[in-house]
Amino acid sequence: MEKREFQTESKRILDLMINSIYTNKEIFLRELISNASDAIDKIYYKALVDENLNFNKSDYYIEILVDEKEKTLLIKDTGIGMTEEELDSNLGVIAKSGSLDFKSSNEIEDGYDIIGQFGVGFYSAFMVADKIEVKSHALGEEKAYKWTSTGEDGYTIEETEKETLGTEIKIYLKEDTEDFKYSDFLKEYTLREIVKKYSDYIRYPIKMELTKSRLKEGSEDEYEDYKEEVVLNSMVPLWRKNKNDLSDEDYNQFYKDKRFGFDNPLKHIHMKVDGLLSFNSLLYIPSAPPYDFYTKEYEKGLELYSSGVLIMEKCSELLPDYFGFVKGVVDSEDLSLNISREMLQQSRQLTLIGNNIEKKIREELKDMLEKDRDKYEEFFDSFGGSLKFGIYDKFGKDKDKLKDLILFYSSREKKMVSLKEYIDNMKEGQEFIYYVAGDNLDRVDKMPQVELLKEKGYEILYLVDQLDEFVVKMMYDYDEKQFRSIINDDLGIEIEEDKEAEKVMENSGDLFKAMEEILGDKVVKVKPSKRLKNNPVGFATEGEVSVEMEKLLNAMPEGGNVKANKVLEINMDHKLFKKLESSYEEDKDLFKLIANLLYDQANLIEGLPLEDPVEFTNNIWKLL
Ligand code: ADP
Repeated sequence: MEKREFQTESKRILDLMINSIYTNKEIFLRELISNASDAIDKIYYKALVDENLNFNKSDYYIEILVDEKEKTLLIKDTGIGMTEEELDSNLGVIAKSGSLDFKSSNEIEDGYDIIGQFGVGFYSAFMVADKIEVKSHALGEEKAYKWTSTGEDGYTIEETEKETLGTEIKIYLKEDTEDFKYSDFLKEYTLREIVKKYSDYIRYPIKMELTKSRLKEGSEDEYEDYKEEVVLNSMVPLWRKNKNDLSDEDYNQFYKDKRFGFDNPLKHIHMKVDGLLSFNSLLYIPSAPPYDFYTKEYEKGLELYSSGVLIMEKCSELLPDYFGFVKGVVDSEDLSLNISREMLQQSRQLTLIGNNIEKKIREELKDMLEKDRDKYEEFFDSFGGSLKFGIYDKFGKDKDKLKDLILFYSSREKKMVSLKEYIDNMKEGQEFIYYVAGDNLDRVDKMPQVELLKEKGYEILYLVDQLDEFVVKMMYDYDEKQFRSIINDDLGIEIEEDKEAEKVMENSGDLFKAMEEILGDKVVKVKPSKRLKNNPVGFATEGEVSVEMEKLLNAMPEGGNVKANKVLEINMDHKLFKKLESSYEEDKDLFKLIANLLYDQANLIEGLPLEDPVEFTNNIWKLL
């Protein structure tokens, strides 16, 4: 019989497959099943328009047959089949649609990924086979043909016997090696799992004969084997079903079946988009973050299907990082299962789908915020950090998309509020969105500056999450109102108390100058204040870095030595101030001692570490 040569390009792919170290060898089954399904599609559509073709629904199926002795797998379909010429041109050359240019070994390396994501069709079977036989009987032909190849040295085609229409592909599995057990592909369990994983939504039944065991009739302890045919795939994916036919329970069950999480999801989003690019998608917002969500190990992504066939388990391009918690599936008929020559175009399609999905998630969250506040707060509790990070990330590129989705604790409402709600409740003439950063709500609530502003009727946002202040700095403003820390000197409002402080400054300016000299570059300024209530001292800051940011940055491994520009404020109504004044007149040593102590106290009040605890204790003893 005449040996035929593979075409050059196909040879290289074959070579890649035969010597594949690719770990997902199992995808060969997905490829063969998809081809079988395509072949059935072709005959199915023909039968729809051709009255001479008579088919019943039960005539369309795919079957997997295992021969353990022979170590072969047979994948059989009732599709359109291939003529002699088609066997030659389709299996002798890598399909035109799936052409790949392997130019250098480098690119072959990249090829491994392509095998997994898009497959290389029929040839992938050579990852597991050392010989393949394809018997096919094409529609409208009298004769059937057999294509045989062991890979390297070409293939043969000869006439054969095959009554029924369609194709049978027989895979002679490679011998097991230390690294890989090819014989696993003979196991019912393995085959069932692979079909479930990749081909669950193929539209035709994928049948397999299972060997089961039962008690022999009339016997109490003797068993006999028997064959039972099962259908391995569920055929219609949930996301293709009509929303109205599905209950919350169906959606929750699917979430669990898919192992998206152990919880009941907080929300599902079932979307169908038709147009330039069509796709179906079923998305879930989990109710709790997975244990590794806020770590580097977490991998975001959606399952990507092409017409019901899984092509990627975690397609990260479909989700922005800030929605990385979303789970789900995307299915598009416009994505080809083949390796496309235009991989670029593929990724453009993905971007388009991704943009659609991002927008939809945002709309749904906004809707939840407006209509189901409790649920939204539950959501925000779990994933608010991710949204905040999204605002801060990429130098604020996405901040406008997310600004309406974040919440902060409000001094007035004593609960979380959105920025829009804050703006709606602003006092007349209020120029800024006031905030204060701190470790926890209680502490912040008792800060003298907070009490002062609260008394005057202003609402303050308490930023107690570590990232919060960076987020607010990145946003800069909302609805044209700038954010302003209440520790800032300029709050854009007249504060009566400040005027009195200014008078004291005019009269005792020397004293504050003298203190500035004593404290050197620890502070940028020392000044009197009436904003401090019962506290003797406090820090205000000038410039971008606040005391809270200083704490956080210095706690980071590479935080360096960041310092806030601190203004030491002395409470002019406090007893200590009188003492300070008198010592300034009478006892310069005592004045110096008190100046240093006040600075240390301010550090303690702000939760900053003391620069020299020993000296601090000594100073107290001296004073006593
Ligand atoms: P692709 O499926 O990407 O086109 P393949 O290498 O998997 O590439 O298959 C090449 C061609 O062989 C297919 O396009 C199809 O025409 C034909 N073919 C493969 N398997 C079958 C089958 N089971 N029945 C009919 N034709 C098939």
